Amino acid sequence: MSGAPYAVPWSWFGSIGGGNVPLLHKIAGVVIVCAVILGLTLPGVRRGHDKGATATRAGAATRTTPPARGAPGGGRAGASAPPRSEAAAQSVTRPIAAAVPAAVAAKANELGQVPVLMYHRIMKKAELSLDRSSKELYDELTRLAKSGYVPVTAAEFVSGRFDVPAGRHPVVLTFDDSTPGQFGLDPQGNPKPDTAVAIIQQVARENPGFRPVATFYLNKDLFQLTGAEAAAGLRWLIQHGFELGNHTMTHPDLSGMSEKGVRAELGGMEDQIVGITGAHTTTLAYPFGSAPRKKAWAQEDAGKYRFQGIFLAGWKPSESPFDGAFDRWAINRVRSEGKIKENDCTRFCSTAWLEHLDKNPAERYTSDGDPNTITFPKTSEDRLAKQYRDWGRLY
Ligand SMILES: [Zn+2]
Repeated sequence: MSGAPYAVPWSWFGSIGGGNVPLLHKIAGVVIVCAVILGLTLPGVRRGHDKGATATRAGAATRTTPPARGAPGGGRAGASAPPRSEAAAQSVTRPIAAAVPAAVAAKANELGQVPVLMYHRIMKKAELSLDRSSKELYDELTRLAKSGYVPVTAAEFVSGRFDVPAGRHPVVLTFDDSTPGQFGLDPQGNPKPDTAVAIIQQVARENPGFRPVATFYLNKDLFQLTGAEAAAGLRWLIQHGFELGNHTMTHPDLSGMSEKGVRAELGGMEDQIVGITGAHTTTLAYPFGSAPRKKAWAQEDAGKYRFQGIFLAGWKPSESPFDGAFDRWAINRVRSEGKIKENDCTRFCSTAWLEHLDKNPAERYTSDGDPNTITFPKTSEDRLAKQYRDWGRLY
């Protein structure tokens, strides 16, 4: 574990105590910074990803996964990874194959960074710090579409099973806390106007190729839908390719809780979702981005939940899932926000990061158009995770 520089907004230490930051945000800030420091000082925590990835791949075939509608790229999933010892041997002896000309022409870089955007309440007019207005959401999604981004769900991203056309870039849209501005159905059974889902669908209609998918991290209030409405709503989301994820029953800070408490929060939410939809969730987002004392408590509970990826709350794009540094148990997200001063959004929120990636296209994940290969420039060769070596193509 090196002490490599990490894109932490250190000036947070100055801003956390600031007068205008809402309390929840202060807590979140402290928690995230503490979590990052722990992550840097505990050897082995981030090294565990190889084992986790192998186990997940093995488990993927038997688990109920959310629908991958519009993502015909099942090829990578259908093929089986070599045993680890064999893969390790190959890494020494077998060179990585050459990229095809079309992938080179597309400047493919499937070891580049992927923005995972984090939204909270969507309102006609923003009220609190983390809110975004319907117009701000529309404008940001339109910007993504015009810049060549294609949404994939969090579950697709974590599994590496997504099919984005050559030269385009995956983006993950995540919405936390299941508030009513994100989703609801009108009497005709269509998404209510100005909700996040309605806006995503509108942008997809206006920009062919922009997949209308996103991941919703649910708390027990379920968009304030109850009974038959909640059931119809969650089923509608799944049927339309949206992913439902777990965000705990009551949104506590898991870092201060007992094992029993953590498991009750996650298991209770999972029971509620399974009871309505019949399907398990695949990914989890920690409330406040805050991990429990032992991550294993959140990863799996036999018979209750078994996640394939866990998402944090800030503040930089994620590594590619094919990068050896990718940690499926601590996936970075970027807060959706303009370049405001608060929380160093001038550098660490979505507008700033999307500008940065537009200006530095070599840092960004660009697809080769083939879900069965992982293409990248030779300069990135060392980054490829060992278990994906057979799929690698370089130029
Ligand atoms: Zn939340």
